[in-house]
Amino acid sequence: MSSDRGRLVVISGPTASGKSTLWRRLVDHPRMRFSVSTTTRGSRDGEVDGCDYHFVDDARFDAMLSQGELLEWAEVHGKRYGTPRGPAVEAIDAGYDVVLEIDVQGAVQLRASDLPTISIFIVPPSREALEQRLRERGTETEEQMQRRLAIVDREMAASSEYDHVVINDDLERMISEVEQLLGLEASEA
Ligand code: 5GP
Repeated sequence: MSSDRGRLVVISGPTASGKSTLWRRLVDHPRMRFSVSTTTRGSRDGEVDGCDYHFVDDARFDAMLSQGELLEWAEVHGKRYGTPRGPAVEAIDAGYDVVLEIDVQGAVQLRASDLPTISIFIVPPSREALEQRLRERGTETEEQMQRRLAIVDREMAASSEYDHVVINDDLERMISEVEQLLGLEASEA
């Protein structure tokens, strides 16, 4: 394996598994870059176009798809999300590892690509713990929560497709385990 080329670091996991805290910490490392996805969903409060996502309309997403500009894409909760090919490939060619926080459908597509990839699935310690975290967060109605939990069950079934499954029983411990898997120095933060 070339020692100069970086790789795609695919992070997936159910909602409230801690994966967003994880990727934010990973990109503090100088060797890591974050892949900003393109999406057709609207921006939420506090989200910045070009930082959290590239927010586009359906026509633009269709054009990106037909021009082969997306490395992978998926429909999640009725909206489309995809990884722009150019920036990710340029970064790995320049020796960076590129962190992708994407869903399981996208991860499956990347396994079939010829790009060097390491995939990590983050799981909560138990379904009960996850349900409790969602309840504590209190941002959803009971119906929305049941729908999310059904998706979680489906996603958990796909965890065996990943190179590594890491349990988030403790946030700091989970982050260190992932840093070790990636061969990163202990967090400089
Ligand atoms: P949210 O709308 O809450 O930011 O993200 C919803 C879901 O879309 C999450 O599971 C997230 O991992 C997934 N997602 C975000 N960007 C991408 C992407 O570029 N590709 C794929 N396949 N999934 C994505």
